[in-house]
Amino acid sequence: MKTWIPDHRNFAYLSWKQVEALPRAQTLLILPTAAIEQHGHHLPLATDTLINNLLLGHALERIAPELPIYALPPICYGKSNEHLGFPGTLSVSAQTFLAVVRDLGASIASARFVKVVLYNTHGGNTSLVDVCARDLRAEFGLRTFTLFGAAGAPFSDVSPQERTYGFHAGEIETSLLLHGVPELVHIDEFTSNYIARTTDADLLKPEGSCANFAWLTRDIAPSGVLGDPVGSTAEKGERWVGEAAERIANALLAMYQFEPRHGA
Ligand SMILES: [Zn+2]
Repeated sequence: MKTWIPDHRNFAYLSWKQVEALPRAQTLLILPTAAIEQHGHHLPLATDTLINNLLLGHALERIAPELPIYALPPICYGKSNEHLGFPGTLSVSAQTFLAVVRDLGASIASARFVKVVLYNTHGGNTSLVDVCARDLRAEFGLRTFTLFGAAGAPFSDVSPQERTYGFHAGEIETSLLLHGVPELVHIDEFTSNYIARTTDADLLKPEGSCANFAWLTRDIAPSGVLGDPVGSTAEKGERWVGEAAERIANALLAMYQFEPRHGA
């Protein structure tokens, strides 16, 4: 898989003697979680994994080289059963995902590292990542953090409709890939479907509301796209990668420096 992680930030490029020499109480380890799943007619299966690596790699380039902050190899397979029925989707169950992260947490704790970031770029993993972060804290005493997607970057030119319901293979993901891996984007095969409209008065929402309906992509989107890639450009992608990298780098530095407050 293509990578933007600088070699000196790649944990798996270290020898065990180099790992042993790290300041283990301070070192921040980042475990990326993503997916291999259909992304419509126009984007590759690895989209979420590539975006994770692209954004994280650019964020790590902004961090002072002397700080002990490392990216672990990603968990490329995620909980993607919303996209089953589309050939190429490779999904693991919630139980498997939780077990893999738990076992990696056990390995990290046994090496006496303390600080771990779960950096997730696949929506189907989000609730599991929250569970993992709490459980790794409770079971192993790890100081765990979660970080998602573009870390709140504004994506300034995106319409409210696309910002709210461009869940999958829409303008944002397509622009990021047009910047990072343009050779993998089929720009003559764009399709569009929306799961809901921001103008709808419906009480039930697809997610993120107090009353939601569970959805499968095939119920809503014959092409596999949930959003609209029309309007995607490499220029937007480049700008958004920069905005996201800045926010991700700031979040990682805050995690590196984090000390919990006790009492008032
Ligand atoms: Zn995606």
